[in-house]
Amino acid sequence: MTTNVSWLPFEKEPMGKKGLGLIGFPLSHSFSRQFFADKFDKENIQDFYYDVFPIPDISLLPELFNMYPNLLGVNVTIPYKKAVIPYLDDLNEEAAAVGAVNVIKRTQMGLVGYNSDVFGFGESLNKFLQHKDASMINNALVLGNGGAAKAVLYQLPKMGILPTLVSRTPTPDGITYDDLTPDIMNLNRLIIQTTPLGMSPHVDESPNIPYSLLTPRHFLYDLIYNPEETLFLKQGKARGAKTYNGHEMLVLQAIKSWDIWTSDL
Ligand code: NAP
Repeated sequence: MTTNVSWLPFEKEPMGKKGLGLIGFPLSHSFSRQFFADKFDKENIQDFYYDVFPIPDISLLPELFNMYPNLLGVNVTIPYKKAVIPYLDDLNEEAAAVGAVNVIKRTQMGLVGYNSDVFGFGESLNKFLQHKDASMINNALVLGNGGAAKAVLYQLPKMGILPTLVSRTPTPDGITYDDLTPDIMNLNRLIIQTTPLGMSPHVDESPNIPYSLLTPRHFLYDLIYNPEETLFLKQGKARGAKTYNGHEMLVLQAIKSWDIWTSDL
């Protein structure tokens, strides 16, 4: 099969290999491509390829799978995590609950959407909360109200933690940054940062919480992994809070993606 479509990484699908990849736009550099290249190398996996597909419009998804008959599945990133849903034949429980998909698998039933961010977040938070001072954490503030926050808000109650959404604009179930009183800051020892503040080009910004009320009893988790330490985490650390970034979540969602794609091979 040949093609001359400019957004495809190769004209001919690599022979004798099962295909995996990443869709999003634009895709300048990809953690996932490097992660899977390293994995295939280390584990001597020769019958898979993983490449990036910077499709400029999500309506091209069916065409992508038609063009590459050996494409087994893809990861999905910004800006398609929600927009991809109408193009799928089914969703698993997490993806349906969160309303966002970051893994697609081709099955006999068609294209099925999954959300491995939920797994990545849950497992990494679990590691963070193994800390000896983390017992009795039952409440958390979740800063931001985007797709990543939805995965966090879905997972926290499953871990016995009651989340409170903190948004810039009032929401029916949440509060705003102006509502963060000393009592609320004292009750919520875990704070999950899900806004883009702290990431390029916002590296000098952090969510507008009262940092002076943070203490060594607080646990700050930032979903951002680049830079390793955001201004949010720095300000927490300066007051003795424990901190954790999003790198482990990123690795764990990739590992989970692989398990989803290969579970029935
Ligand atoms: P998003 O939809 O673009 O933004 C999340 C929310 O942040 C928005 O809904 C908004 O909530 C708030 N926000 C946006 N700009 C803001 C600003 N200037 N000031 C204050 N709040 C602002 O992003 P997302 O897709 O949910 O992702 C959020 C972050 O998580 C990104 O940094 C992403 O890289 C990271 N992430 C990491 C992983 C991982 O594996 N580690 C996985 C997924 C995402 P309000 O308007 O309600 O305030």
